[in-house]
Amino acid sequence: MYSVPKLKSFTAAALDKAVEKLLAAVKEEASAVKTEADWKTFRDRWMARKNGVLTEINDLWLKAAPKEAKREVGQRVNQLKASVEEAVAKAEHLQAQGASGSSAKVVSDALDITLPGNRRPLGSEHPVIKTMHEIVSVFRNLGYSVEEGPVIETDYYNFEALNFPPNHPARDTQDTLFIANQESKPQRDRLLLRTHTSPVQIRTMEKMKPPVRIVIPGKVHRNDPPDASHSPMFHQVEGLAVDTNITFCDLKGTLDHAMKALFGSSVKTSFRPSFFPFTEPSAEMMVSCFICGGSGKRGSEPCRPCKQTGWIEILGCGMVDPNVYGFVDYDPKKVSGFAFGMGADRIAILKYGVDDIQLFFNGDVRFLEQFG
Ligand SMILES: [Zn+2]
Repeated sequence: MYSVPKLKSFTAAALDKAVEKLLAAVKEEASAVKTEADWKTFRDRWMARKNGVLTEINDLWLKAAPKEAKREVGQRVNQLKASVEEAVAKAEHLQAQGASGSSAKVVSDALDITLPGNRRPLGSEHPVIKTMHEIVSVFRNLGYSVEEGPVIETDYYNFEALNFPPNHPARDTQDTLFIANQESKPQRDRLLLRTHTSPVQIRTMEKMKPPVRIVIPGKVHRNDPPDASHSPMFHQVEGLAVDTNITFCDLKGTLDHAMKALFGSSVKTSFRPSFFPFTEPSAEMMVSCFICGGSGKRGSEPCRPCKQTGWIEILGCGMVDPNVYGFVDYDPKKVSGFAFGMGADRIAILKYGVDDIQLFFNGDVRFLEQFG
C-alpha cells in the first residue's frame, strides 16, 4: 500500500515523479472501493485530518521543503488535494450505484414529480342521516334531548311494555326479524331486531322521572322484501313528551311547529284518527304537499308524491296510553304525554324527489355524491 515518501530532492522533476506515484496510488485504491464501508476507509485514509495521506503530504513535503521550493511544492500539494477530493467523491458515487444492485432500483427509488397525487375525496353526510339530523335539530331547539337504544331488543321492550296485545300482527314472524334459537327463553326475554324506535321510550322512562322530552333517532328492521318503497332496514325519528297537564293541543302545536320548521312555514297540518297500541287516542298526521303546494298538480301534470290529493301522510302520533305508564312506574293520574314517530327515509325520499328507497342503501357513490 502506498505510503508517503520523504522527499530527498525538491526539483521539479523529483516533484513530478512523486506526484505521479501518488496519483497512481489514489486511482488504484479508488478502483478497489466496493462497499460503503470500503469507501469510508478509503476516504479516511486519504483525507482524515489526523493521519490522512493529504495531512502527511503537508507535513513531509510542504513543511519539509526548503524556503526557495515552498511555492512550487505548495502549488503541487494544492493540486493533489483537489485530485484526491475528486477521486473520493467519484468513488462514493460509483459505490452507491454499485450497491443499489441494478438500475431498476435506482428507477424505482426515483420520485416522479409529474405523477398526479393520491386523490382523497371528501365525504359528506348520507341524505337519510342528514334528514334525521334536521328532524332531531328541530326538536332539540324545542328543548328535547336525544336518546338512543339497542337495535337488538327484547320482546318485552319492543312489544309488551308498549302495550302490544299478545296476538298483535307486528309480533308475527311475517313482520318481525327474530334472533334464532330463542325458544327456550320466556317470550318477554327473546331477542329480536327492533321494529320501531319506541322501546327507547320505555328505557328512558324507566331511568328518568317526568318531565321527559326526548327525541329518538335510529335504525329499525322489518321483514319486508326490498322494493322501491320498502327496505328490511330503515330509519325512524320518534319523540316523547311526558309531564303534568300535557294535552292533545300540545301535541298538535308541537308537531305543526316542527313541520313548518322542516318543510317551510306555509305547510298546513291535518290529523285523522288512527290506532297504535301504545297511544290513545292515536292519529296520523298529514302535511299539505310541499311539492305542489297542496294543489295536487305540478303544472299540467298530476303530483305523484301526494297522489294528487294535496296531502302527504308524514307521521303517526297520539297521547301515551295510560297502560304504558304502568310498565315504568309513572302515575297515569298525575302525568300525561304524547308520542310521535316518523320514517326518516320516507321524508328524505319526498324531500329529495328520489323514486326508489333502495338507492339510499346500494352504496352507489354516483347517486350519493349528488347530495354532497
Ligand atoms: Zn303534491
